[in-house]
Amino acid sequence: LDAILVTHAHSDHTGGLPVVAEAFASTPIYMTPPTRSLVEILQRDALKLMSLPSDREADVPLYGERQVEAMLGQVRPVHHHESIELGDIRVTYLPASHILGASMVHLETPGGNVLFTGDYSVAGQRTVASLGRPELPVDLVITESTYGNRIHADRKLAEERLLHSVGQSLEQGGRVLIPAFAIGRAQEVLLILRDGLRRGRIPHVPIFVDGMVRSVCGAYPQHERYLEPALRRQMRTLGHPFFGDDVKAVRDLSERRQIVSGGACVIVSSSGMLSGGPSAFYASEFAGNERDAILITGYQDEESPGRALLDLASQQGPRTLTVAGRTVDVRCRFESYSLSGHADRMQMVGLLEAMNPRVVGLVHGDRDAKEALARSLGDRDVVLCDDGIQLERTFVTRTRRAVRPGADRGRAEELVGLEPDRALDAPELARAWFGRDVADERREGLVRELTALGLVALDDAGVLRARPSRPATPEQLAEERLRQQNPKGKVHEWCTRRRVKPPQLFESRSGGHDQAELVLVVDGQTLRGGPVLAASRKLAERLELAPEVVGGQLLGEPAVEPGVRVVDAADSERLRGSNFKGKLLELSMKHKTPRPTYESLTRPGAMRSRGLLRLHGGVRHLSSWYQATSGRDAEHAASEELL
Ligand SMILES: [Zn+2]
Ligand SMILES: [Zn+2]
Repeated sequence: LDAILVTHAHSDHTGGLPVVAEAFASTPIYMTPPTRSLVEILQRDALKLMSLPSDREADVPLYGERQVEAMLGQVRPVHHHESIELGDIRVTYLPASHILGASMVHLETPGGNVLFTGDYSVAGQRTVASLGRPELPVDLVITESTYGNRIHADRKLAEERLLHSVGQSLEQGGRVLIPAFAIGRAQEVLLILRDGLRRGRIPHVPIFVDGMVRSVCGAYPQHERYLEPALRRQMRTLGHPFFGDDVKAVRDLSERRQIVSGGACVIVSSSGMLSGGPSAFYASEFAGNERDAILITGYQDEESPGRALLDLASQQGPRTLTVAGRTVDVRCRFESYSLSGHADRMQMVGLLEAMNPRVVGLVHGDRDAKEALARSLGDRDVVLCDDGIQLERTFVTRTRRAVRPGADRGRAEELVGLEPDRALDAPELARAWFGRDVADERREGLVRELTALGLVALDDAGVLRARPSRPATPEQLAEERLRQQNPKGKVHEWCTRRRVKPPQLFESRSGGHDQAELVLVVDGQTLRGGPVLAASRKLAERLELAPEVVGGQLLGEPAVEPGVRVVDAADSERLRGSNFKGKLLELSMKHKTPRPTYESLTRPGAMRSRGLLRLHGGVRHLSSWYQATSGRDAEHAASEELL
């Protein structure tokens, strides 16, 4: 084994690392620096748990401190966007959002390019920035599929619902327990609570942090460059992102006892499923009290007390829960909130269509999730991977760094394409061939070789043009053009960004041809393309989605309706510079009026917004509709009018 590549710190990805590391004692283990910090905290906590006396035979420790130390000694840090060379494989770590330090791993190999996504999220969270599309060429994507059968509720709404529920209990003098996974979720919850305090959404009561969450929170400030930019800025003015006058760590057992005999407070503690740790203790104390609340924020295992608690909701008669070794009559309020750190089906499809790999392998999800995701990927080559599976495909690789065009004519021909006289862009050509940007001389060398092979030539105006050696049929040309433009990917990416349901495709066969018709509904407006006839289903679908059919309406010039003011490029430049939305918010805070609200509509190729400002004495100002390419610009324009 040449290397062990760790994507992120969660224990379902690193729990067994000391055992694996011992078996491959001379193998380097690669991970980002924050992942290393978190893995160390997690393993030290595991050692502590394993050293506790246990009467269960199955609890014989699998490893001890020696193995953990040795494993940490094998770790080689690698930052995001950094590459390591392993023989003729180049490994690049890329951000995966999800949690602090989480990575996707890109492998450039002589046999093709692989992206291993690990766990990832697409929308930004409070601790980590949103996912950028990996810009490297990919033949095979091995993707997680945890929520392949789910569409998440709006994150902002879930957060507001959580704050509302916390506020409700606190106002009645109750105590609120939020069990949360120590890495990632707990930090998100703390930032939501602190933000709620600042905005006056919840009353000022002490917030306590207990369990492994404490030490995990302590690791975040050491890895500033991995944090969400807004959080980084906040840290500079407000200090520690998680602890302060409002949020305190619980230091010992006596403090814990004080808290359970005290008044209204919020506790954020691991474990997230009430299966152990201080959260189980607090739950056993709070469950019997009707003023208290237990608010669940993540996935709950079938066997966990957290799941048993949630299942009580649909149960008649007396309700009891066994937690932390006690059986309690449940009288407290309990609810569940989705604050997922994983992409949902729509987001995964959007990402995969945009990357347009040849093969997709699905891992890290149950059967149901994998099947649902595979269905959403239509006629792509999708493999539902089980442990131990071997995947074999033969194709001309999109990049092969070491090979010169003369040594692989087939690939050189594919690079140049079938369309005669197509204008070529040398840097783009080089990027496709080498898989990344290269120095000028390598690029010029490539063009020279292609010229010598007779595949490209400069025309009289000095433009590099394709000189394909074989004539192509119109269908082959259409197929090639579509592959280059990837209209399906563009449409799906657009839908993902705007949170619009992906287009639905209606297919039929008539007279030996496949027919496709595509329907996309955007804010109640229906866009229809086709129907298009083609010799194959795949081609019909692609033609149907071609930019000039639907993408043209979608990604091209937006339609303008009367009464709607259009923000042009110059306007948006000016608007961004002046931050009218911020100014309006500041003004409303100064005058203690409600925050201005915005209504938004998605339009083909544009976002539309208008603002509502409520003043004292029931006076309301509603702005005109503004249309811009970004929702933010439209809101700035509406704010300017209200100001
Ligand atoms: Zn994870
Ligand atoms: Zn995972």
